Amino acid sequence: MNFNYLILTINGLECKSILNNEICKNILIFVSTISTAFYVYYLYYLILYLFKSIYKNMKNDVDYKNKILQLKQDKNAIIMAHYYTTGDIQDIADFVGDSLFLAQKAATTNADIIVICGVHFMGETAKILSPDKIVLVPDLSAGCSLADSCEASDFKKFIDDNSGHKVISYVNTTAAVKALTDVVVTSSNAVKIVESFPKEEKIIFGPDRNLGNYINSLIGRNMLLWNGACHVHEQFSFKKLISLKEIYPNAKVLVHPECKDSIVKLADCVGSTAALLKYAITSDAKEFLVATEAGILHEMKKQAPDKLFIPVPPDDSSSACNDCSYMKLNNLEKLYLCLKNNSPEIHVDSTIIDRAKLPIIRMLEISEKLGL
Ligand code: SF4
Repeated sequence: MNFNYLILTINGLECKSILNNEICKNILIFVSTISTAFYVYYLYYLILYLFKSIYKNMKNDVDYKNKILQLKQDKNAIIMAHYYTTGDIQDIADFVGDSLFLAQKAATTNADIIVICGVHFMGETAKILSPDKIVLVPDLSAGCSLADSCEASDFKKFIDDNSGHKVISYVNTTAAVKALTDVVVTSSNAVKIVESFPKEEKIIFGPDRNLGNYINSLIGRNMLLWNGACHVHEQFSFKKLISLKEIYPNAKVLVHPECKDSIVKLADCVGSTAALLKYAITSDAKEFLVATEAGILHEMKKQAPDKLFIPVPPDDSSSACNDCSYMKLNNLEKLYLCLKNNSPEIHVDSTIIDRAKLPIIRMLEISEKLGL
């Protein structure tokens, strides 16, 4: 009797009077047994399906990794991964770093093929510095909202409308925009390079308005700014960062200068991805709130496994961290296919290469002079 009552309760039918009817009671026991059997069967197949797909993914990853390593060797290729790609791509790469480091490093190797796991402009930068090598990117549609916010023809008009200005461009630009530029900068050397120009020098800075504003306010300049931005770094939530600071009062706040001013003001360290990584490793602090693309956490955790890194979420309430959808287009399957097919390849017009190389060389010369 107790067992019957329990089954009826489980099925939400707490009706003792039915128990007095022998036929109803048996029907309910039958229905209950069938439904329990169905639940068990369903659960079994769900668990089996989950295990199968996890195993399949792991096996695919191992297969792709082995094939990529073999192709890399056969074709004398080198794999460069940006900090914002996924961990599995970073783990298989020969070098991990920011865009200019990858392009410079690739140019010093004797590899015939350079694979840039990053976004399109990074492939172009590598091609500018290694015009005789084959430069591949796993997904040609991996763009960049910041580089895309600065069309070369529009930028040229802006420069023409403001003649007499030196043109300083952030490395996150297309080759065509670099070709219109006097000096290229990165987030790690931008402040010092701008500072090296006389105060009275009129400067156009593009394309990132947040980085430009940050430099202007830090060193008291009045550069004319192109109105571009990175959709990832603009999205960090001020409110959520304040809440995280309350939960982790001892955490240091690491912020990329492409972020909005309200986020930069809360930073303990403002810098390039490489600078934030260095700060995280060398700091005595044990907890960090990280306001840059979440891919950098992979290297941070690898280099400082005893520390806690918390990604600052974007305004969008649906996600816990801020990913660059373009960077995440890179995956092992595409990396394997691009090495196998030597495609997609980056092509840059040779006149653009010649012109775009000059502002990069100028940056390297100024950096060397400044001891950067
Ligand atoms: S994080 Fe921003 S700047 Fe970097 S590649 Fe993505 S869109 Fe471009």
